[in-house]
Amino acid sequence: MQKRLLAWYDGAKRSFPWRETTDPYAVWVSEVMLQQTRAETVIGYYTRFMKRFPSVGVLAQADEQDVLKAWEGLGYYSRARGMRKCAELIVKGYSGVFPKDVDVLRKLPGIGAYTAGAVASIAFGVRTPAVDGNVERVVSRLCGIRDDVGVPSVKRRIRSEAEAMMPRERCGDFNQAMMELGARICQPAPRCELCPVRQFCDASLAGDADALPVKQRKAPQRVVVRTVMLVFHERAVLLHRRDEKLLHGLWCFPGFDRLQTPAEAVKRLEELRIHAVYAETIGSARHTFTHIIWEMTLMVFRAASRSAPDGWIWADLAALASLPLPTATKAAQRAAEQILKLGAYDSLQPD
Ligand code: SF4
Repeated sequence: MQKRLLAWYDGAKRSFPWRETTDPYAVWVSEVMLQQTRAETVIGYYTRFMKRFPSVGVLAQADEQDVLKAWEGLGYYSRARGMRKCAELIVKGYSGVFPKDVDVLRKLPGIGAYTAGAVASIAFGVRTPAVDGNVERVVSRLCGIRDDVGVPSVKRRIRSEAEAMMPRERCGDFNQAMMELGARICQPAPRCELCPVRQFCDASLAGDADALPVKQRKAPQRVVVRTVMLVFHERAVLLHRRDEKLLHGLWCFPGFDRLQTPAEAVKRLEELRIHAVYAETIGSARHTFTHIIWEMTLMVFRAASRSAPDGWIWADLAALASLPLPTATKAAQRAAEQILKLGAYDSLQPD
């Protein structure tokens, strides 16, 4: 099975910039980016990130805002913050050299079992599995594991099966081959007729591959209705840096849960000592996070002055382009940019 899988991987693997190196820093950056994001999308982010922060030392010294900016659009921003912290620790605690030991890697902030396994096997050739969602699916089918993969003991079993099937050599390639098989052939709807390891696959022989892995249904995402306010004053729009866990450290337009009436929204702004009048409602937008969905109504306001509480800023077009804003507010950002370009509100004052 190992020989067949590696031979298939050698002939079929897609070429990606991170596959041309075994530098642990580069492997780490790519593996963190590849979590939850398609490889084709990651290419551009990875290339720009490596140019901007070419080593763990440079990343350790970087300003968190610059790192978040380079991450803008990838989502799951806690990963970017975790990476910067982790880089600092590697520089301080390990003289800037990545540890080879999986258990040591796992103790670093933001490095879980998967990332530790991927870095150790790909960069250092350590015989340790890297089980992401793709590999979990492949292993559960190959080994015929028909229990709920959300249960910790089943997760442990999948990990130990993944480890047991690893060869003594080419461990990094083997892990990547398993991931590639999951991404290309052993997809949620399996393409067993094209699979190089079909003859070794329990689920394919049993005919229930498409029913595996067994997963309990997730609770549906909660819908949160929000009012997002674009408040303008003289070619600048109001932004604040979020303190909340969700999108922490990123710059957002003022927003409040539930749909506010224009009068309520003005009152909320007054509470922040921002005196403004309602201009119009310009549309709506929707963003899906892992657990919640934001359904946003975008309202425009004109402010009387540039007063703003601490942690809030008035951003012009250049600042809007350079600050890290989350994808969740892209529609609002595009609208704000358009309004600022047109100068639509710069000379208007509250009634
Ligand atoms: Fe997946 Fe089918 Fe290959 Fe089994 S034979 S590993 S189910 S693609």
